[in-house]
Amino acid sequence: MSLDHASALISLLGDESRVLTHPQLVERLSRDFYWYSPVLRKQLDGKVGDFVVQPLSTPEIRSVLRYCQQNNLPVTARGAGTGNYGQAVPLQGGVVLDLARMDQIEAIQPDGVAVCQPGVRLGVLETEVRRSGWELRCYPSTIVKASVGGFLGGGSGGIGSVAHGGLRDFNTVRALEVVTMEAEPQVVRHEGEAVHEILHAWGTNGVITRIWLALTPAVEWSQCVVAFDGFDAAFDFSEHIATGTSWTKRLVTAFEWPIPSFFAPVRQYAPQGKSLIFFLIASEQIAALETAAREAGGVVTYSGPYGGLRTLPLLSDYTWNHTTLWALKTDPAYTYLQCGFDPERVRAQMMQLRERFGQEILFHMEFMKNSEGRVIPGAIPLVYYTTEARLNEMIDFCREIGVFVANPHVNNVEGGGRYRADNVQLLAKMRYDPKGLLNPGKMITFHVEEAETAGTGITR
Ligand code: FAD
Repeated sequence: MSLDHASALISLLGDESRVLTHPQLVERLSRDFYWYSPVLRKQLDGKVGDFVVQPLSTPEIRSVLRYCQQNNLPVTARGAGTGNYGQAVPLQGGVVLDLARMDQIEAIQPDGVAVCQPGVRLGVLETEVRRSGWELRCYPSTIVKASVGGFLGGGSGGIGSVAHGGLRDFNTVRALEVVTMEAEPQVVRHEGEAVHEILHAWGTNGVITRIWLALTPAVEWSQCVVAFDGFDAAFDFSEHIATGTSWTKRLVTAFEWPIPSFFAPVRQYAPQGKSLIFFLIASEQIAALETAAREAGGVVTYSGPYGGLRTLPLLSDYTWNHTTLWALKTDPAYTYLQCGFDPERVRAQMMQLRERFGQEILFHMEFMKNSEGRVIPGAIPLVYYTTEARLNEMIDFCREIGVFVANPHVNNVEGGGRYRADNVQLLAKMRYDPKGLLNPGKMITFHVEEAETAGTGITR
């Protein structure tokens, strides 16, 4: 059955090489980094698509989606497959729509907006826009591999968020174009507030085919590592720099010991037992930062210019969710949470967590600007996993004490904590994918019957 569909799609594209059916390739392109979560590992191991289609253009995507709509074939969009929650793992087989070949940067506009296709790697975009005096406002620590479309579909923020907020903030995504999964697929442009109908919807309500991404003027950056005897002092200093309006920074990350001991390639900058802060700071402020760090009782263990993504050491490789990867390499029992602490109560909240869970939770803080412009202490703490019940106890406790949790151990848009309370992603899905064929199973509040009664006029 599925081989018949593969043959039909080969005829549609007129190119056999872009419909992949080899089981190992299909399996590889059906996976992401869901195995970070012991809970998702159990749920998603073995889930694969039937075959992979690699379109080169928007008209090709329309043809593929039209065929799949007519034949009730599920379609799961894929960028680079670096997502953490099984976002790009097809739950019901079907077509994996691999967008990696749609990798053109179409324009870098004089007003600082990059226009590109979804398969452009963020690292390529960052390098390219810097040539014109711009840089990305924020990017995930997977920048080298991850795609722009995948970042919009499944990411949230990262390096740069301390200054520019997340992907959803400050009109960073100026506009995007999606192809819908209607009987006759449409190409629809969303701009302004309407981008939120599609952002972080995990490819459940349209395939993003073109992006207008706002940039920021490029800065000459330096990297710096500061060690403190205890985490309290490290946290105080990181907060001081992150929230201080006079500092131009791209990254402020604080780790308590023993997290730095997991970073094998940079262990020489991680003295035994010390808590560390990793900074990306404007080069013109590096001397002042070092002075401030020493005055606060810190020791600068590394300082050097940042010359782009090939710089070694590349401190961002140890931050955001890369921290979890280094921990997993050391001990596969580690997993993580994604938290937002209350800036007024963060110290008390950390103490409550320490009292209740001891070393089962290790603090890894990432500062980020929220949509109101306030820099707040986000966190991707490491969790020493024992049972799902214990993990849920920790999540519940966080919420009880006012710590926001975007749960990375669930495989649906709603449960992940980034779902829009105004349901705009669901409403877009009802319009654009009334048969529920885009990444099915990932938007659990969607029900075909409701899409039907909403007057979308589908016939099945
Ligand atoms: P994929 O994993 O391929 O896709 C992500 C989701 O988007 C899927 O649901 C997919 O179906 C959908 N999608 C892909 N392309 C399209 C499209 N064209 N149209 C519609 N939907 C689409 N994330 C962060 O936000 N910040 C971080 O700092 C960060 N650090 C990470 C560190 C590590 C080590 C790992 C493993 C992951 C990290 N992530 C982080 C998660 C992930 O790397 C990013 O979100 C990344 O931007 C995803 O891009 P991708 O191309 O790999 O997307």
